Amino acid sequence: MFKTIDDIALSGRTALVRADLNVPLREGKVTDRTRITRLKPTVDDLIAKGAKVVLLSHFARPKGERVPEMSLKPLVEDLADEFGRPVRFAEDCIGGPAERAIRAAGPDEIVLLENLRFHPGEEANDPDFARALAALGGVYVNDAFSAAHRAHASTERIAHLMPAIAGRNMQAELEALTAALEDPKRPVAAIVGGAKVSTKLDVLENLIEKTDLLIIGGGMANTFLHAEGVAIGKSLCEPDLAVTARRILTKARERGCEIALPHDAEVAIEFAANVPHHTVAIDAVDTDMMILDIGPATTDALAAKLADCRTLIWNGPMGAFEVPPFDRGTVQLARKAAELTDSGALISVAGGGDTVAALAVAGVTDHFTYVSTAGGAFLEWMEGRTLPGVAALERG
Ligand code: AMP
Repeated sequence: MFKTIDDIALSGRTALVRADLNVPLREGKVTDRTRITRLKPTVDDLIAKGAKVVLLSHFARPKGERVPEMSLKPLVEDLADEFGRPVRFAEDCIGGPAERAIRAAGPDEIVLLENLRFHPGEEANDPDFARALAALGGVYVNDAFSAAHRAHASTERIAHLMPAIAGRNMQAELEALTAALEDPKRPVAAIVGGAKVSTKLDVLENLIEKTDLLIIGGGMANTFLHAEGVAIGKSLCEPDLAVTARRILTKARERGCEIALPHDAEVAIEFAANVPHHTVAIDAVDTDMMILDIGPATTDALAAKLADCRTLIWNGPMGAFEVPPFDRGTVQLARKAAELTDSGALISVAGGGDTVAALAVAGVTDHFTYVSTAGGAFLEWMEGRTLPGVAALERG
């Protein structure tokens, strides 16, 4: 278990908040504020409990050097605007500049420290660098689940040096993930899609141990179909992984995890906008055709299966969703999951970059129980790995 903002006294303490402010920036302007908006509950709650808030974050990949284009300074205005409080910027994240900014900041003021990755000690998880960070405050608040799969000084080492708690984002993320995989309401379904099996092998291995139904779609389903002897024409496929795919299918059967593969498909001659396309049974894909989405019969059958489930974990689209109409399977299934969630029948957790984009296309982001914007960390969690940033919080 981990502690939260509710569990410790914060009045008069300086809270070092590890945030993820690695926001998209174009010509010095923030183009998407989602990560800033999501940080607000943590900032508000800490200030309400009397803490002084100091924000720590990485930005881009300066590789241990001071790269002016990768400064966090351009975020000051957006942070001040979003949080409705003045934001004081420190030109360095440790030492004199950081200490002076924190000392000078009033109780209502937020301090933003410069990019942690300007120091090589951050990514090296260096004890001296972590000590220099810890010296700046009295309590550590980790609110960056998306960085928790990295054992860095500001995500891991620092948590061993001072009282450590989860911020509201981290708390919400961990509660949602625990509800989905550690202690779920059954039956549990997982939907895994996307381009390739090779990037999600560990995800599949873990899910067949933990779920009752594993729906495989997208390009990766083609490798499974090929492994089962289905002719898939020119579809995206990793034939080298046929043996692995068969092993996963056998293991799933032994574990009592049902695997659902497409039984019809939307095919076209190439992956492009406005190409002629049609629906075929899965054993009728012509040699010059590509599978670009699950077909309508598969979509209906999967939607019916979802209606019998109580928990859903979703990563990866069912087809080449960026190009309509090959978004149809993903969109229809996402809408079904959203409808079941809204009615209280299903707990639905989704995550990963393309998945977030696909759910946005379907317009259902706010109708899932939880949508994680963490890419790598979410996948590592789906793989069943211990995330160093989470483990360090739980230890305390
Ligand atoms: P991933 O990053 O592994 O989740 O893969 C997402 C990508 O897979 C998206 O860009 C989709 O366009 C692509 N994709 C999904 N299904 C197919 C398919 N049947 N053929 C080709 N690409 C696909």
